[in-house]
Amino acid sequence: MKPFSYTRADSSGAAVGELSNNTHAKFICGGTNLLDLMKSGVEQPDRLIDINRLPLAEIEELPSGGVRIGAMARNSHTANHPLIRQRYPMLSQAFLSGATEQLRNMATVGGNLMQKTRCYYFYDTAMPCNKREPGTGCGALEGYNRTHAILGASEHCIATHPSDMCVALAALDAVVRVTGANGDRQIPITEFYRLPGDTPHIDTNLGKDELITGVDLPRSPFAARSYYLKIRDRASYAFALVSVAAALDIENNTIKAVRLALGGVAHKPWRATQAEEILVGSSPNEEVFTQAAEVALQGAQPRQYNAFKVELAKRAIVRALATVGEMS
Ligand SMILES: Cc1cc2nc3c(=O)[nH]c(=O)nc-3n(C[C@H](O)[C@H](O)[C@H](O)COP(=O)(O)OP(=O)(O)OC[C@H]3O[C@@H](n4cnc5c(N)ncnc54)[C@H](O)[C@@H]3O)c2cc1C
Repeated sequence: MKPFSYTRADSSGAAVGELSNNTHAKFICGGTNLLDLMKSGVEQPDRLIDINRLPLAEIEELPSGGVRIGAMARNSHTANHPLIRQRYPMLSQAFLSGATEQLRNMATVGGNLMQKTRCYYFYDTAMPCNKREPGTGCGALEGYNRTHAILGASEHCIATHPSDMCVALAALDAVVRVTGANGDRQIPITEFYRLPGDTPHIDTNLGKDELITGVDLPRSPFAARSYYLKIRDRASYAFALVSVAAALDIENNTIKAVRLALGGVAHKPWRATQAEEILVGSSPNEEVFTQAAEVALQGAQPRQYNAFKVELAKRAIVRALATVGEMS
């Protein structure tokens, strides 16, 4: 591992100042992703800024009826918090489907938002990877691409975003709160992540010197009917091959509002807005769920080993919506 210096920030301003003054510095929080990347030589920061002691771990109700989750809130604490369990059950389920209890006890909301892809070629420094080293090529395009993207990919990168939490956040219209040298700003989760295009090394629209301070969840009508379905190779301790965050607001047997987001299929949590449009105004039944699933996967472009994901995603959408539709 490359030698690095270490400092502990005691305020958001100090953390941002440290980052602005050191081009190759990185924040470290739970360390569950960054340390693995450093040990394998994928990340090589020369300074670590420990942000664990920043007072940003609160989960609190907002006057609007929404909820604010601090960036330092641990994944297990957030998953089990009464406000999250009662108002945003699919977010709680998404957290609990990820990693293991020990990892969730360390992992933070800010770190989860910023975790890197699990593409094998990204982690293997002997292989070309445009995300790790721009301009070197993409080993996955013609390689073993079973876990890779079927939507929104480019000829430069077909990696997927690995987070479960972020799929639920995309469905819930969450807003990421950040602070930086130029002040505070808020970024809707749907604008936080980027598609790979010809700059796959830039995952997010977070500025180079910005710190995530929290996530706001708007008031939600979906508390009674939401579900996170994760399909993976093992029943636990595995990333999603495909996942679905689905929520329905049903009145008089008519869908008033719907949220549908997919994980494991694209470079970012994939919000299926066209499928949502089909569902609104319909009665909840398998026929319309199937139509929505077809629309959600319309633009899918599978590679040699991941074509199974197209059918898997369609079936997962129908199953997730049917499960939510049966809730009362
Ligand atoms: C074996 C294993 C299995 C896993 N399985 C799953 C899974 O099934 N589903 C899933 O979703 N995740 C899974 N994970 C990933 C895990 O959820 C992430 O590693 C974790 O959420 C990262 O949080 P952290 O606090 O440890 O981040 P760190 O490792 O400390 O940091 C990760 C990145 O985030 C940046 N960062 C951290 N906090 C901030 C902030 N506040 N502002 C700006 N940048 C910040 C860091 O600079 C770094 O680049 C798994 C991880 C492991 C090791």
